[in-house]
Amino acid sequence: MRSELEQSGRKLEQQDEEQGSKQDEEQQSRQDAKQGHQKDSEKQTDEQAEQLQAQYVVHDEAFAEELTAIRRYLHRNPELSGEEKETTAAIRGWLEKEGIRFADEYKLRTGLVAEVGQTEGPIVALRADIDALPIQEQTGLEFASQIEGRMHACGHDAHTAILVGAARLLKQREASLPGRVRLIFQPSEEKATGARQVIQSGALNEVQAIFGLHNKPDLRVGTVGIREGALMAAADGFVVKVEGVGTHAAVPEAGIDPIVVASHIVTALQAIVSRNVSAQESAVISVTKIHSGTAWNVIPEEAVLDGTVRTFDEKVRALIRERFNQVVSGVAAAYGTRATVRWIQGPPAVVNDELLAEDAVQAAQQLGLNTVRPLPSPAGEDFSFYQKEVPGLFLFLGTSGPHEWHHPAFDVNEQALPLGAHLLAALAEQAFYRLQG
Ligand SMILES: [Zn+2]
Ligand SMILES: [Zn+2]
Repeated sequence: MRSELEQSGRKLEQQDEEQGSKQDEEQQSRQDAKQGHQKDSEKQTDEQAEQLQAQYVVHDEAFAEELTAIRRYLHRNPELSGEEKETTAAIRGWLEKEGIRFADEYKLRTGLVAEVGQTEGPIVALRADIDALPIQEQTGLEFASQIEGRMHACGHDAHTAILVGAARLLKQREASLPGRVRLIFQPSEEKATGARQVIQSGALNEVQAIFGLHNKPDLRVGTVGIREGALMAAADGFVVKVEGVGTHAAVPEAGIDPIVVASHIVTALQAIVSRNVSAQESAVISVTKIHSGTAWNVIPEEAVLDGTVRTFDEKVRALIRERFNQVVSGVAAAYGTRATVRWIQGPPAVVNDELLAEDAVQAAQQLGLNTVRPLPSPAGEDFSFYQKEVPGLFLFLGTSGPHEWHHPAFDVNEQALPLGAHLLAALAEQAFYRLQG
């Protein structure tokens, strides 16, 4: 299974190599040496996948149209994290039409939990995020956002439509399900607070495996990115306050210039990734805001730096946090002042269960989907909080998007919607078989 997984990942890895991933390049050339026959068979697999997918969409045309309508309704009516009231009501309506029962004992202010299947047997969860972003849409689509300054620019509208579709498919097969599928429509992913609300509601109780997906603009429709281990980064934030002593700009010796101190901190922080993190690991430290000063001829009292740290491994995460504090306080001390660090602990890294990842490759291929093994993404995802509680798998669904996540002209190819729905339903069913041994 492992080698199948790696083989199927070749295409994307080849692209990634071009972007300079030395480690994967070496791994790749070892694989190429072992698997010289691959080039042609890979081409065939691609063509087969496209054919199957074409059949697929035709066979499910009514289903595809319904999911498109759901996605477009949500796209027109985006709601920000924690404000997803209309979205929740709409989801409730779509599920109600299918006769799906709500698990309202798990109380959420926005978002909802529903269940399909038996009252006995194992419980498997499927999760979609439902919130939008404070972005002014620039797609020019006929179903563009009707709300000023708000947009589904991360494709959570598509995720929601996909989970509604999966719910419908599972409901149709309810009698044959050996357990229960808990459907989690999670609020507030963009603020990374929703998953914790869901966990606090008790909705993860008794769940033995959880699955979720994110659209991926740079993967083609019909392709699924599946990777065991770390897939997305821990996303922490920081605010550094540098204390200065204000003075006339012409008499700097009478004060302490926080802008000079802040500048040295920004520079010194760059050495953490390059000098403290091993070449086998990866991390990002980005300072994204610097605020200080009010006048051209005044040395200000304070400088404030904001930014983010991305890591894939808990040890690297802890190391960076420790070094970060040392660098900030050390540099400030060198200039005779102090600086404080407020660390904003974000979601941990998305780390996928190995067995679930292997099973998912099989499930995706059985559906006629092409599978690749993507490199980890430095973006964050609060699905990781669930994976701290139960084994979970998060995967990327190819959507042939024109732009990256959070771009004002972001869009998804809607042909991916039924594929995602069938995939989620298949993952839940397959998990039952693994749980039953
Ligand atoms: Zn997002
Ligand atoms: Zn997202």
